[in-house]
Amino acid sequence: MRLRLEAEQAAFRKGTVEEERTINGMRESRKSGKAFSFAILRRDTGTRARLGRMSTNHGDVLTPAFLPVGTRGTVKAMSPWELRDIGYEMILANTYHLFLRPGCDLVKEAGGLHAFMGWDRPILTDSGGFQVFSLSPTLEVAEEGVRFRSVYDGSEHLLTPEMAVASQEDLGSDVAMILDHCVAYPASREEVESSVEVTLGWAERSRAAHSLKSQALFGIVQGGTYADLRRRSAAETARMDFAGYGIGGLSVGEPREVMLECLDVQAAILPEGRPRHLLGIGDPEGLVEAVARGVDIFDCVLPTRLARNGVAITRQGRMNLRHAVYRRDLRPLEEDCPCPACASFTRAYLRHLHGLGEILGHRLLTWHNLVFMQRLLLDCRAAIEAGRMVQLIQEWRGYSERIPRE
Ligand SMILES: [Zn+2]
Repeated sequence: MRLRLEAEQAAFRKGTVEEERTINGMRESRKSGKAFSFAILRRDTGTRARLGRMSTNHGDVLTPAFLPVGTRGTVKAMSPWELRDIGYEMILANTYHLFLRPGCDLVKEAGGLHAFMGWDRPILTDSGGFQVFSLSPTLEVAEEGVRFRSVYDGSEHLLTPEMAVASQEDLGSDVAMILDHCVAYPASREEVESSVEVTLGWAERSRAAHSLKSQALFGIVQGGTYADLRRRSAAETARMDFAGYGIGGLSVGEPREVMLECLDVQAAILPEGRPRHLLGIGDPEGLVEAVARGVDIFDCVLPTRLARNGVAITRQGRMNLRHAVYRRDLRPLEEDCPCPACASFTRAYLRHLHGLGEILGHRLLTWHNLVFMQRLLLDCRAAIEAGRMVQLIQEWRGYSERIPRE
């Protein structure tokens, strides 16, 4: 294991990493060192789902893909090589947190985020917009940017679209995102209309400020739950010709049908040949439905956060190990799961570790939940190849109401 990693690290430094793998029968061999591109390899016959390949300077990402979230430059409880072993090809890091701690300038000095955190595969960074509006007491939103207080020490900061771009250039991520104005759900039409206008203005400025050739810049569409505003936001943002598009402001508490309607509206407008990233969705049913609507990339803290709260995501539903029923349960979390938690340990042991706050408990549950998500996305890719996304949607329907059998 260690030898292989050292060899890969050396190849990475020389810029000669050669990726070779087999996914659903397609053998691929590609060299790194090329600009960003996106290719659609296959389409589902019954839905808008597509199987794609996003190529970046740090390698390829097969889509649909789920990106584990490395909030502060680390996917909590997991090492980079463990994420690689699960098969993850890309992770997401939060600019907001890295901007405040340790500072994007320091990350740049360390050689960029890939070198700083020891992850040599692609990284997507968000702009910090979502955290500024959801975590921080926001002081003022003006045309110039947004003033907010740090969630760490209450200090006051200004974030402009230009600063969000410059910070992500310092981080050296493969995909950066524009600063967007997020509103909470529910929001009045006036509030959403204003957030769409502000975001469009910021998108123009972000595009003008962006200069790092090795990094792709994604626009973000907003529009709350108003179909006409969603349409306007998608059409105007697409006109600016970004390398890809984030779909923001969804999965924030609105009913699932509403979210899916919004996705339908925007999928019809966003350019077919560019990747689409639905920000912040991690529930299996919603994710499969979104894949069927042509979404390519997902990220969410849910699988890793649930794990630290003692919850395993299984096909039978969410399994809360704090429940006393698991105290003497000597079965694995899931019979057919290949993760280390399921291969070697019982529910009773994992419950015991979690109850005492043991580090291994956090690690094993996180491992399991991330393997679960990766298998879900592999199932989506296989379903697209076989033209059976409609059946896959049926299999996952009603997932959130499922309770694991005891
Ligand atoms: Zn498992």
